[in-house]
Amino acid sequence: MTAPPAPGRVTLVGAGPGAADLLTYRAWRAIARADVVVHDRLVPLEVLDDLGPDVEVIDVGKAPGKHKVAQDGINDLLVEHARRGRHVVRLKGGDPFVFGRGGEEYAACTAAGVAVEVVPGVSSALSVPALAGIPVTHRGTTTAFHVVTAHTRSGEQELDDTAVSCVTLRTATLVILMGVSSLPAIVSRLLDAGADPATPVAIVEKGSTPEQRVTRAALDLAAKRADEVGVRAPAVIVIGDVAAEGLLEGVSGDSGRRPGAARA
Ligand code: SAH
Repeated sequence: MTAPPAPGRVTLVGAGPGAADLLTYRAWRAIARADVVVHDRLVPLEVLDDLGPDVEVIDVGKAPGKHKVAQDGINDLLVEHARRGRHVVRLKGGDPFVFGRGGEEYAACTAAGVAVEVVPGVSSALSVPALAGIPVTHRGTTTAFHVVTAHTRSGEQELDDTAVSCVTLRTATLVILMGVSSLPAIVSRLLDAGADPATPVAIVEKGSTPEQRVTRAALDLAAKRADEVGVRAPAVIVIGDVAAEGLLEGVSGDSGRRPGAARA
């Protein structure tokens, strides 16, 4: 009598913003135990260098605007391979559950009766600003942040009222993913809603990679500046006082404290 095949499973793994050393230890361990790796475009491919010759690597990455493999196709792929008794690692940029459609992949697995788990990743929403020296919250400056996408299935998206009020009322840092092509529309919407034209904006391209670049401008000039310097995706746009140049520079007095960082 032959033993039934071991049940397969799927692990949705967050690969972080791009640098291989920003994968978590748990992510590395899951990859080392994979039979199949299904990966996106924005993942550090060197993490796949040490895989054994039997490990199947499938690239389902999509360039902006082009779907290499449709989402349903990806869901089916995960389920099919797991049903063959394999450990499928689904390697996704940043965190799997931040604008990554990881929830849909997770749901497709559970609907098919396939065991699935998540390895959280370092999301670009927080890490890319951090790598550029921008704290999304900063004592004495901003105590909240709001993360949105400016791109949806139906195309470019206008900011919703909550996102707009973060900026107009200066209540929270606004972090925008997938916003490069919508930047002119975003700027107009914010200015029309009464945002201070001097509100600091920072755009961080290719965070954590050797090509990381930060472009800063006041809100009213941000779209023009981005166009001048040729800002390209992937980039994270940060709007709010924390994006001001020099926020964390200039240690005051001999206390070692930063300006704006009042002690309780
Ligand atoms: N799940 C991912 C986000 C997927 S949406 C996460 O948690 O990070 C893809 C968007 O993320 C890009 O359009 C860009 O806005 C942002 N992004 C991802 N990696 C980035 C990087 N290295 N530098 C700048 N932006 C990045």
